Amino acid sequence: MEALTDVPFLLNTNALLKSARLEPGSDEAKEFAAFVDAAREVARPKALYKESYIDAKGDGTVVIDGVAFTSRALRKNLDAVERVFPYVVTCGNEADTVPMPHDDYLKGFWLDGIKAALLGAARKHLHSLLEHKYRLGKTAVMNPGAGDADVWPIEQQVQLFSLFGSVEELIGVRLTDSFLMVPNKSVSGIRFASEVDFESCRLCHRENCPGRRAAFDKALWDSVQESP
Ligand code: SF4
Repeated sequence: MEALTDVPFLLNTNALLKSARLEPGSDEAKEFAAFVDAAREVARPKALYKESYIDAKGDGTVVIDGVAFTSRALRKNLDAVERVFPYVVTCGNEADTVPMPHDDYLKGFWLDGIKAALLGAARKHLHSLLEHKYRLGKTAVMNPGAGDADVWPIEQQVQLFSLFGSVEELIGVRLTDSFLMVPNKSVSGIRFASEVDFESCRLCHRENCPGRRAAFDKALWDSVQESP
């Protein structure tokens, strides 16, 4: 297991200004730029991962490092895989310490954009480290809670986090009672070698999702229901 607590990052003020839809040179833009500078001073995006092995595969179950996961989609995706890389990446709690009025919706939106950029840096850093250290080649990812509710139930965040011991002590991420992560700009999952392009969106019936990355795939959906 390795905790990456010194993730390199850039907060590009101009790019962030553009995504916040602020007019360069305006008073708001100046305030925003100062906000980005303050976040840059304190931010510490982080990542946590481990190299894990599959102990057993059953009927809709996979046991990884002694922890049982229940998901037909995960079981199917790991059918030909023996090694996986569970991970948690986060923007870190530090950006939340930048002083701002708690009831200011606009500044909350600014902060969310900054935190998303920090999370992006942590994801990129981890992806590149795994690529260089383990020569994984083509990979895919599954995340608890992504896709339809029963694809890989979000409750299994508990099992995923248990693979690491205390994720909160290691990189400051904790689970709420509804299994969401705090800080909100955090992502957990399992990366694995795969020749197939897998996207949870292919197993998601949600209509009009602005974040959709792939169309719903009825044939894949049926094959997951029929898989061991
Ligand atoms: S379609 Fe939207 S809700 Fe469904 S898995 Fe993709 S991003 Fe998530």
